[in-house]
Amino acid sequence: MLSLTFARQNKAPSILCLGAHADDIEIGIGGTILSLLKHHPGARVRWVVFSATPERAGEARASAHAFLRDAGDGRVAVHGFRDGFFPAEFAELKETFEALKEEFDPDLVFTHHRGDSHQDHRLIAELTGSTFRNHVILEYEIPKYDPDIGNPNLFVPLSYECAELKVDTLMRSFASQRSRRWFVPETFYSLMRLRGVQSAASSGYAEGFYGAKLCFQFDPAPADPNIYRSGGSERARDFGKELAWPILAPGR
Ligand SMILES: [Zn+2]
Repeated sequence: MLSLTFARQNKAPSILCLGAHADDIEIGIGGTILSLLKHHPGARVRWVVFSATPERAGEARASAHAFLRDAGDGRVAVHGFRDGFFPAEFAELKETFEALKEEFDPDLVFTHHRGDSHQDHRLIAELTGSTFRNHVILEYEIPKYDPDIGNPNLFVPLSYECAELKVDTLMRSFASQRSRRWFVPETFYSLMRLRGVQSAASSGYAEGFYGAKLCFQFDPAPADPNIYRSGGSERARDFGKELAWPILAPGR
């Protein structure tokens, strides 16, 4: 099957990872970020957790740094928004997103799925879409009590080593969650195994995402779309070639 990869990139990719609570990012994209950094070790990563108690903030930071060990520049932020009450803190959250947009322009954004039943997850997904207006956004899934697991339309096949490292690091990093009945390796392996079946992953494991809006592009795009109307196609093509257009493009 034709796959997507980072192509025409003459610089290390910049990745933004957003999670409502400590451990959300790891559960949703842990294998993908390990795999991505293995192939793009110079990547710049911003990892933002919006809510954590002091105990969980320590776990979240240690875990994030473990997952970002291969990043060229990995920065972690942990905020103190109230767990379960994000809609009541909309203005402050929106301001946090606006500040993030000013400081970091990502090639790729990972965030919650906007169909997620948890109100905190859903609001983070909505703010991601309304803040990062011209970016590739992939929405990840979180297994939980609520029956909201759906059918992702984009898959990242993982090596068994990445899947195993994801689960081992999760279990080691979040001691505070080990008493929860669902926080067991089987939960994480089973979802990755199902997504691996659905994507015909050679290892059998994958993570699933929702690509709410993706552009399939054959030529570099001009910085100013009006150039096609005013300058003629040859000039537009030359202009476009000068750009390093950071977008997912067809690979092998
Ligand atoms: Zn969560």
